Amino acid sequence: MEQIEQLIITQKTFFSSGKTREVAYIKSKLQALKSAIISNETAIYEALYKDFKKSKFEAYLSEIGIILSELEMTLKNIENWSKPKRIRAAALNFPSKDYIFSEPYGAVLIIAPWNYPFQLAIAPVISAIAAGNTVVLKPSELTTHTAQLIEDILSTVFERQHLKVMQGGVPETTALLKNRWDYIFFTGSVPVGKIVAKAAAHYMTPVTLELGGKNPCIIDDSVDLKLTAKRLVWGKFVNAGQTCIAPDYLLVKDTIKSELIEHLKIEITSAYGENPENSEDYPRIVNAKHLERLEHMLKDVSIVHGGVINKQDNYFAPTLIDAPSLDSKVMEGEIFGPILPILSYANETEISKIINRYEKPLGFYVFSNRKEFYKTLIKTHQFGGGSVNDTMIHFGNPRLPFGGVGDSGIGAYHGRLGFDTFSHKKGITIKANWLDIPLRYAPYSKKLNMIHRINPLINTK
Ligand code: NAD
Repeated sequence: MEQIEQLIITQKTFFSSGKTREVAYIKSKLQALKSAIISNETAIYEALYKDFKKSKFEAYLSEIGIILSELEMTLKNIENWSKPKRIRAAALNFPSKDYIFSEPYGAVLIIAPWNYPFQLAIAPVISAIAAGNTVVLKPSELTTHTAQLIEDILSTVFERQHLKVMQGGVPETTALLKNRWDYIFFTGSVPVGKIVAKAAAHYMTPVTLELGGKNPCIIDDSVDLKLTAKRLVWGKFVNAGQTCIAPDYLLVKDTIKSELIEHLKIEITSAYGENPENSEDYPRIVNAKHLERLEHMLKDVSIVHGGVINKQDNYFAPTLIDAPSLDSKVMEGEIFGPILPILSYANETEISKIINRYEKPLGFYVFSNRKEFYKTLIKTHQFGGGSVNDTMIHFGNPRLPFGGVGDSGIGAYHGRLGFDTFSHKKGITIKANWLDIPLRYAPYSKKLNMIHRINPLINTK
């Protein structure tokens, strides 16, 4: 505790010096971070492989590449993002000039999960540093090799007064949360999100909570089944299904379900071979506890593909389950692994009935060539974000907000929105003195009529 308190004091003192807000300084640090990531590319591959046998391709696509694009975008735009933004003044305040100032919060705590252990730790760091904050980063204790490498890389780029990595599990995170932070950014599960929100409430600390949910994927009978199956297999089994925005379960038009299942089987084999355990591209489950959690979901269900487990290596085959009961374990909560339950619907009321059993999800997917069908579904249901005729790809556009709603999270980030997440927006009106319209001053006697007439005409744009 003492060590943490001391660190926070050191960081707050550094923040007060104003250095963390100097754009040239921030840019030099982000540039150094970019170089350090590029020169550590092989080490990142190795760490991710040691943690859960992630392939180089997936490591680049979903961890390194995304971070390099985020850095590039931030470096290009930071001057513009940091500038006070002049906005239209209110006519009632005439004459005045109005601005929005972006002000860093101060001491930021970032807590990261294990499933994309590099990307989900570094992306919020980039935004927090860009906005001018100091950072303490707590990576996941379940992916130890990546956590150590993150510490090694970041400690070569940042002095501890600016950014410090603190490794540890529940006791260490609990100790961190006992302190007063100016902002907390958490990515992880809903139950831990609630612990973080409670700890933050103690000091009225603002939070972003990037959580999870049971993401539905609806498929109607207007689609090309082969293409749909290919995209589904990619979205569900990338990272062995350990993705917060992976499609959790399918809701398929009853008339095409059997045919889609056959296509899914073909696409799984096409991607990972007859035995995915031998595929270099198929990762492992992060640890034995999570493997066991997933194994329980196979009880009392009809496995139509996969279902093979190798406990020696935390291997869990890409698995398809046909028509599980809504009361089964696999339909209880977020799966977060390579199990795909396939349910069917006869009409649109049935779709909503199933989706509405669960809290608002983080991701939402529709495969259909009927515009009205997918537009209605998007409008009717509340969820973090999603895509039509594909899965997860909305994550790849840094100009789209990424975040949940309700149980799937509070707040959003990526790109400009990431910078905004870590800055308080100060609204400032600078009043001129060359004119002083007497309307607002007492005595008000005859002015009510006048304000009645003027009020609807102003501030309409
Ligand atoms: P988790 O909630 O178990 O852990 C996340 C972080 O919280 C870790 O750093 C961990 O050390 C810490 N932690 C765990 N228990 C704690 C406790 N009792 N008190 C304080 N800190 C604690 O989540 P996870 O297993 O690492 O990640 C999986 C979950 O995260 C899934 O639910 C997934 O949907 C979600 N997730 C969300 C996003 C997103 O961007 N919305 C991204 C990835 C994962």
